[in-house]
Amino acid sequence: MSILVVGSVAYDTVETPFGRAEKVLGGSASFFSVAAAFFAPVSLVAVVGDDFGAAAMAAFEGRPIDLEGLERTAGKTFHWQGKYSYDLNSRETVCTDLNVFEFFEPRIPDRYRRSEYVFLGNIDPVLQRQVLDQVERPRLVACDTMNFWISGKPEEVRRTLAAVDVLLINDAEARQLSGEWNIVKAARAIRALGPHTLVIKKGEHGVLMFSEEGSFAAPAYPLEEVFDPTGAGDTFAGGFLGYLAGSPKVDEAALRRAVVMGSTLASFCVEAFSLDRLLTLSRPEIDARYRLFKRLTHFEEV
Ligand code: AMP
Repeated sequence: MSILVVGSVAYDTVETPFGRAEKVLGGSASFFSVAAAFFAPVSLVAVVGDDFGAAAMAAFEGRPIDLEGLERTAGKTFHWQGKYSYDLNSRETVCTDLNVFEFFEPRIPDRYRRSEYVFLGNIDPVLQRQVLDQVERPRLVACDTMNFWISGKPEEVRRTLAAVDVLLINDAEARQLSGEWNIVKAARAIRALGPHTLVIKKGEHGVLMFSEEGSFAAPAYPLEEVFDPTGAGDTFAGGFLGYLAGSPKVDEAALRRAVVMGSTLASFCVEAFSLDRLLTLSRPEIDARYRLFKRLTHFEEV
């Protein structure tokens, strides 16, 4: 089953306490696509400028990622710069240069229109709806958003959420969106807006999922080396949706396994800058860490 993703393809400049990377490949759709393509074919919708080089493009090649919807226009590729302190959970956005992204109007190629799974990466909620208007009744629509849109276009975010099945956001965004400080109350309020499932990402503290059948928690995989958290959320979403797209049905058990698979993919992402670790990753390595996850969280009644 194929997955359509719309989001940013970017050049990122990232500073962490452990080093700096200048204009490396980033963007929500990039992390998502490479992670999801381990499980299912991906159809990418995004825009890059004429400065987007062959080296960056190579990240998508040789994988089941359809690039017909990757538009190239005159101008510079979207650029984001971020800085992390020793607490890698908090980051400061140094600058966001929208560049070609400013005039982006997602156009869905004909052969993408029947995608069964859709991931609306973090872009303007109006554009997210434009994408949904161009596809034929997907089985599952997942969506990400951020504080910028929640405070800037709250009504548009709500209209988009009415058409979404799974929302993936972080805890601060969940509080902002619902106006509730308590996460359980926030989840109830957000699920009333449309999504039957809400996945709340809490960085190194893991993930909480609220669905029709209650709640489920997964820790972040305990790593000795965390190098750069950029893209962990989008990589989580790629592993999560990729896993579901490869599952025979989407029920509570599959959603729970998808949360663990998303967390597994995200744990690789943070081990290096940019997509570097994802690009050397193999399916056996993914499966081995997924099994370790099971051991990490398993306990028995006495
Ligand atoms: P994450 O760490 O999963 O939240 O995602 C980080 C990625 O999001 C980076 O690679 C950035 O290029 C991208 N990004 C940051 N700000 C924006 C924005 N306003 N719109 C679209 N993508 C963004």
